[in-house]
Amino acid sequence: MNYFDFVIVGSGPAGLGAAFTLVQKKPGASILILDSEKYSTGGLRNDCKMNFTFPVGFPLDIWNRDDADHYLELVKQILKPAILGKSNLKIYQKRASRLGVELVNIQQTHLGTDGGLELIKDLLAALQEKGASLALGERMTGIDPDRKCITTDRRDITYGNLLVAPGRKGFRFLQQVMDSLKVAYVDHIVDIGIRIETKAEYYPIVKDYYDPKFHFPGKVRTFCTNSGDAHVVQEKYTTVHGERYYSVNGHAYSSKRDGNGLVNFAMLKTVRLTEPLVSGQQFAENLGIQAMLMGGGKPLMQRVGDFRLAKRSKMESFNDDLYHFKPTLQACPGDLSLAMPSKILRAIWKSMKQLDTIVPGVLHPSTIMYYPEIKLYANKPRFLDYHFKVYDSVYFAGDGAGTSRGITGAWASGIRAADGMLK
Ligand SMILES: Cc1cc2nc3c(=O)[nH]c(=O)nc-3n(C[C@H](O)[C@H](O)[C@H](O)COP(=O)(O)OP(=O)(O)OC[C@H]3O[C@@H](n4cnc5c(N)ncnc54)[C@H](O)[C@@H]3O)c2cc1C
Repeated sequence: MNYFDFVIVGSGPAGLGAAFTLVQKKPGASILILDSEKYSTGGLRNDCKMNFTFPVGFPLDIWNRDDADHYLELVKQILKPAILGKSNLKIYQKRASRLGVELVNIQQTHLGTDGGLELIKDLLAALQEKGASLALGERMTGIDPDRKCITTDRRDITYGNLLVAPGRKGFRFLQQVMDSLKVAYVDHIVDIGIRIETKAEYYPIVKDYYDPKFHFPGKVRTFCTNSGDAHVVQEKYTTVHGERYYSVNGHAYSSKRDGNGLVNFAMLKTVRLTEPLVSGQQFAENLGIQAMLMGGGKPLMQRVGDFRLAKRSKMESFNDDLYHFKPTLQACPGDLSLAMPSKILRAIWKSMKQLDTIVPGVLHPSTIMYYPEIKLYANKPRFLDYHFKVYDSVYFAGDGAGTSRGITGAWASGIRAADGMLK
């Protein structure tokens, strides 16, 4: 039997935020960081653009500005970010406000997928130097709270305090843990949308503002913009019935690399479900599977030019002279309007037209819309205190637990949970 004063499940930013706090404030304590992946650590591996301004990345039912600012300061002390400059902000903001759209001014850094890997190596080395133990490639499988013991695919581990921070991919796993602990939860909010890919010249704002955060009426927003050497990717998810579906996403390598001249970003609509359907996860899974059905097991993609003419995209649409760049993800050419709920599609298309007024060009016929992009960070457990305690000596943090929606929010929520464990 292994015992640790603190066991942290998940080595993403939430887990790391907790680990750094614990090694700093409780030197000498035994700390184990566990991750099912062989290579650490969670979402820092992807693009690694970090936003240091409330409310980006902070669910508003859990965070207010003062608390977020306090914890963001602590995150900055660990990460020492080099904030990117912006230009022409006022011009874009003025155009946006005429349409009732807000362009939020966010402090950002961008390391890129390659830069993120370097950061991870440095962070893990620093933690190990301070005495934390790391177990990569080891998956938590269950919990016995009475014995203060978790099981993994290798052993039983007892804990003084436990933080479970398994990220979005661990969304379902966290629900199993909550069922074991009899923690009440809802997951009635979900973000559904598309990812846009276009030439950088059709979305030139990225030269002025790396990841511009537009908030449109109708709960639509731009999210996770990547440029320079930017790529659209797919993430695999499995439903409760074992069916597979993909959600698209995007990342870029650091600006040190030669670019591919493309930009990608998500247009997401937040959907809040009410009775009788209250599970965002079930809703999202159904949409994901519907998209797989239409795309022969792949996400869908459609050129804006085809969408405007109400015709599906075909392989030819991806070779024509007007459609003059290749998609970075080999998705299936198709018809988004056959796969997407009308309310979501209409809200996003309206916002796209507004965006095209603010940054003219983004609706060029060659622009590609990929579907689906699904964000499942809306598990809402019943927390027992300010520090995300859910059970005696058990805490949750990060995107999977709905305490964050991005890297810095996850760091902040991990630190907030660690403060609770130290009390
Ligand atoms: C392609 C892509 C690009 C992104 N780009 C950005 C970006 O540029 N900026 C930004 O702010 N956010 C970005 N995000 C989102 C960001 O990655 C997340 O918001 C953030 O990583 C959440 O942190 P977390 O610690 O909650 O979870 P994660 O980072 O997902 O970490 C959770 C960890 O837990 C592990 N785990 C899960 N289940 C178990 C288990 N049962 N046992 C042991 N370990 C387990 C996982 O392997 C994982 O390493 C991106 C995400 C993706 C997929």
